[in-house]
Amino acid sequence: MPRRTKILATLGPATDKEGVLARILAAGVNVVRISFSHGSEQEHLNRVKAVGAWAQANQTYVGVLMDLQGPKIRIAAFKDGMKIQLNNGDAFALDADLDENLGNQHSVGIAYKKLPQEVQIGNVLLLDDGKIVLEVTSIKDNKINTIVIQGGILSDKKGINLRGGGLSANALTEKDKKDILIAAKAKADYVALSFPVSGDDVRETKQLLKQAGCNAGVISKIERAESLIEDVILDIIKESVGIMVARGDLGVEIGDAQLPAQQKRLIKLARSNNRIVITATQMLESMIISPIPTRAEVFDVANAVLDGTDAVMLSAETAVGDFPENAVKTMHDVCIEAEKNPIAKISHHRLDETFTYIDETIAMSAMYAANHIGARVIATLTESGKTAIWMSRISSGIPIVAMSDKVSTLQKATLYRGVHPCFLSTRRDWTEINKAVIKRLQVGDFVYDGDFVILTKGMYNNKSGGTNLMKILTVGDSEY
Ligand code: PEP
Repeated sequence: MPRRTKILATLGPATDKEGVLARILAAGVNVVRISFSHGSEQEHLNRVKAVGAWAQANQTYVGVLMDLQGPKIRIAAFKDGMKIQLNNGDAFALDADLDENLGNQHSVGIAYKKLPQEVQIGNVLLLDDGKIVLEVTSIKDNKINTIVIQGGILSDKKGINLRGGGLSANALTEKDKKDILIAAKAKADYVALSFPVSGDDVRETKQLLKQAGCNAGVISKIERAESLIEDVILDIIKESVGIMVARGDLGVEIGDAQLPAQQKRLIKLARSNNRIVITATQMLESMIISPIPTRAEVFDVANAVLDGTDAVMLSAETAVGDFPENAVKTMHDVCIEAEKNPIAKISHHRLDETFTYIDETIAMSAMYAANHIGARVIATLTESGKTAIWMSRISSGIPIVAMSDKVSTLQKATLYRGVHPCFLSTRRDWTEINKAVIKRLQVGDFVYDGDFVILTKGMYNNKSGGTNLMKILTVGDSEY
């Protein structure tokens, strides 16, 4: 049985090393993530090209997600690149008027000049992903005076978060707008939007993608405290094709203790709104420097699978780690084992819901039929991939094979849990297509004689939203 949960791996210097990219892709990466926070345009385009060449040579599909940097608020730099040691109780200032390269033991500049107007006495600022904690004691003009609550070593350009959220920096920066043009050039399948605070941020991103001629789906990274408010998160989810539980920044803003409950809530919300969801950050963190994971990390990946995530993500583990291939193999093994647990297969048929569309109704009927007849495979002929998404929101354990001759649809399906993208020329005659589907499934080792296959298709091929038929085929029958 092929793995259902998808693996996303971040590319970087470690995967640029000779042969590493091919090895991690062969180990089971479904989608690569390219972060605009690091690297040049040429590096990004080279990586996308290398991934595409590998996928073509191996007759498979690997999705490409390009991750916008967003308005990460950072301190500026220290004089001569020095690092400083902050001790508990020290006074330290964040000064918007200080030269951006003249940070010292007592103060450092800030790139986000509005910060002094947006914080108040008593606010807690978290630097370097929460490793250093400062409490605001006073604000004088453009200078924020703080006392160190938790010290540590501080170096250039570390991130600043406000505990509880509330900073008003726009989600889309000028750099993001330029990077959207690069994503269009790279023909990215997905673009990740960092730090959205409202559905408007997603709507603006979609508009910019459209203007750039890019049909990438928007994945909204949930990493701000204010985006968790019920109405806000629902608007963000509905405007996006999916969300990422970006546990790094979100954990800093809301406190790590709240993360597990939020992860479960966000996965549930995304799935019940027919959207995809990625669980991200520090999943196998220790494998950056160790060939094996900790037991807690194994549990973390397995629990995300049991929660119903579409994909689990590797960040520094593959981008800069010493054991990128081991990290992918570990994730693969843990997902496979977790998926065997009956909890991961529980089927929710949306029995008490009203369906809006004909194709949605066919998709749901197919899942009901497949689960109750014990089908080996659900095959869906799909133009836009929508039927495959609907089907994959029901956890059945039965492989869903998305068949299309539209490569962009197959590329996107790399991220849907339990969905296997498969090229099939759909411009054929009505009965011929049934035979072609079975043949394609046999070639792919999905089915054997006597197996039931649930097939959904549209009366008129190649029409988005046209799925209106479900058929049950028995492999090996002379009549299809
Ligand atoms: C995160 O904060 O968890 C995250 C995925 O974002 P990034 O890695 O871009 O900081």
